[in-house]
Order: sequence, then structure tokens, then C-alpha cells
Amino acid sequence: MFEMIALPYNPAELAPYMSEETLNYHYGKHYKTYVENLNNLIKGTEFENMTLEEIIHRTVGKEEYTAIFNNAAQAWNHQFFFEHLQANGGEPGPEMQIRIAKQFGSYQDFLKEFKQNALSQFGSGWAWLAEDPSGKLLVLKTPNADTPLAHGYKPLMTVDVWEHAYYLDYQNRRGDFVDAVTNHLWKWQ
Ligand code: MN
Repeated sequence: MFEMIALPYNPAELAPYMSEETLNYHYGKHYKTYVENLNNLIKGTEFENMTLEEIIHRTVGKEEYTAIFNNAAQAWNHQFFFEHLQANGGEPGPEMQIRIAKQFGSYQDFLKEFKQNALSQFGSGWAWLAEDPSGKLLVLKTPNADTPLAHGYKPLMTVDVWEHAYYLDYQNRRGDFVDAVTNHLWKWQ
């Protein structure tokens, strides 16, 4: 049985960039449903005592396990997203600044590429900064529940670009939401 993670902040703290109402729905309804669905789907199966990461790796690309993959990946993606937000967030520390500048030119160039990548995800999905197996940084997008974790990449930062993540606060303005999260809420670890 998976338990929901606790939010590491009060849901009102991230306003005005992410409203309490959005977090109450996003954390308290959407994320909750993924965790509950997953628990129901894995009850009494070989997946029951695995970690989320193990379930994701064992179910990716297997048609018979699509529902388990989708709910496990969405539980993992949301936990990662919520845990990498904070009030007064922003730029990474000096070491990551250097890595980003080396790969993308500058932190501002990286943000531009990240936003473009997020805007070009057609429909629901996720935008990512990730590391490939050789340690190279790259921006990626994944549709629906898919996650770089399932494909050998190490996720470093993300923005949820499903409409449920921003519609109450930004309506159709996905780019404004991405700017708000990356400039004001990202918690680099
Ligand atoms: Mn979401």
C-alpha cells in the first residue's frame, strides 16, 4: 500500500504563483486518485511489495500493465513535482549553474529552451530537466503519465503541464504557468 507523501509546505504558501485552490485539487484530488487507483490495481499482485520505481521499470511498454504503469508513474511524477517546489524558489546553486551554462549557454538560455519544450508538449504531459546515462543534461517532454525515469534518464526538475496543474490560475496560458514555476517555485536540491 502506498501512502501519499505529505506536502513539504502549506498549500497557501505558493500563492500567487500556484493558488491554494489549485494545490487542493492537484494534490488532494488528482494525485490522491493516482495513489488510490494504484493501490487497488496492485492489491494481491506481484507488484504489491515493490517500490514505485520498481513498478515503473517492470510495467513500462507492457500493454497488459498499462493501467498500473500510468498510475505508478503519475504517483511518482507528482511526488517529484511537489517535492521540488517551495515558496521563494528559483535558481540552482553554483555547481548546477555551471553545468547548465556549459550545456545550454546560460541559465536564461536553459529557461527559454525549457519553456519552449513545455509549450510544445501537445496535450497532457510533463516537461523535464534530466540527466542521461553519461551525465549530460537535457530537456525532455513526456506525454500523459510517461516519465524519463522509465527510459534510463535521471529526472532533475519538472513542470506538470497537464491542464489540471494550471487551468484554475492561468486558464489556457501554459507559458505563464511555466514561467511562474521555474522563476518563483522551483526548489533545487
Ligand atoms: Mn498533475
